[in-house]
Amino acid sequence: MARIVMKFGGTSVGDVDRIKNVAQRVKREVDAGNEVAVVVSAMSGTTNQLVGWTSAISRLHDAREYDVVVASGEQVTVGLLALALQDIGINARSWLGWQIPFRTDGIHGKARIDRIETQEMERRFAQGQVAVVAGFQGIGPDARITTLGRGGSDTSAVALAAALKADRCDIYTDVDGVYTTDPRIVSKARKIERITYEEMLELASQGAKVLQTRSVAMAMQHGVRVQVLSSFVDVPGTLVVDEDEIVEQQVVTGIAYSPDEAKITLVGVPDRPGVAGAIFGSLADAAVNVDMIVQNVSQDGQTTDLTFTVGKADLDRASHVLDKLRNDLAYAELVADSNVCKVSVVGVGMRSQPGIAKTMFQTLAEKSINIQVISTSEIKVSVLIGADYTELAVRALHTAFGLDADADS
Ligand code: ADP
Ligand code: ASP
Ligand code: MG
Repeated sequence: MARIVMKFGGTSVGDVDRIKNVAQRVKREVDAGNEVAVVVSAMSGTTNQLVGWTSAISRLHDAREYDVVVASGEQVTVGLLALALQDIGINARSWLGWQIPFRTDGIHGKARIDRIETQEMERRFAQGQVAVVAGFQGIGPDARITTLGRGGSDTSAVALAAALKADRCDIYTDVDGVYTTDPRIVSKARKIERITYEEMLELASQGAKVLQTRSVAMAMQHGVRVQVLSSFVDVPGTLVVDEDEIVEQQVVTGIAYSPDEAKITLVGVPDRPGVAGAIFGSLADAAVNVDMIVQNVSQDGQTTDLTFTVGKADLDRASHVLDKLRNDLAYAELVADSNVCKVSVVGVGMRSQPGIAKTMFQTLAEKSINIQVISTSEIKVSVLIGADYTELAVRALHTAFGLDADADS
């Protein structure tokens, strides 16, 4: 007997028939004698619609009320799945985040899970009950509903698997594993059998939304065995593992892209100590994450330009914060550009093989794609380009790094 957390994403619970299909998959694991907790997302499209409504009412909305609205999608699917399970003879009960509870910090809209209290769930496992748990939500220190950031049900599932000391955390989705890049934009993308936590973390944080970044960080930290697989077809998925479990390592394992970033340039920023601290400190205080940063050398010793990227969803908030700083900092102009995309190549093999950045830049140059900002880490190189060039860039890089499904490697 094993203890398993199964997570089903939005497409997998997208309508009543699909929810019935999920119930059959859960039944299979229960019939095999396993203890099962199921984490579900909202039906596909639902969360987008809820987010859209909050923005339509108020662009700088109160994050507490945003959470009340966007957490509601999961309430529908846990109830429906519990009903579907009961209908086929499985003892099942639904749980919202606050009922378990999933205790989080108070950063509404992107809360972190501090602790999950699993005693009641354990007691019910012993009675043969399946727990159907709402992903994406928890309860904050002020007893209000919190959400974990878009795609957060993956993190709910991995955190629950860690708290329950589950043997496996199976993430069922609408693709049959993790691919070398998004199979929806590159038909030659190849399924990866095993990927390291570190590479998966980097791919996720650079935009491969197949797993939420925090879920991978948490799996790595707690040694949770994560598998990504299809809700619809019975084929082996992708295992996320330690580096020593990988036999043959590629130099570049995958390519990610993120259309969710926006570029801000502050023109004519005074070139003196403390300015960057004031700018990025204020953004951090407003819970705006900054990703890529470039500061130009000052030509006149007086002022310089500072360019950085923030999440598109945070652009209004960031502009608002920076507007308020304008009197203190006396910068000349704020230029915002949402029509950008970040493309990243990732692989642990980069640590020992030079020349990846060179190949990347040359490949983009051959396609006449202009690079606006660059950032690197030990295992990735990222570039910011015009959004219109995204698919062209990803396809060209996929071929250049020998990742195409028909390439010999
Ligand atoms: P779910 O609703 O099941 O959580 P998501 O839409 O969040 O599903 O994530 C699955 C999607 O991730 C796929 O449909 C695919 O388009 C996208 N994706 C992006 N990069 C990758 C990749 N490298 N491998 C697999 N899927 C990817
Ligand atoms: N429903 C939430 C979202 O769309 C959480 C998730 O799907 O993981 O972001
Ligand atoms: Mg997802």
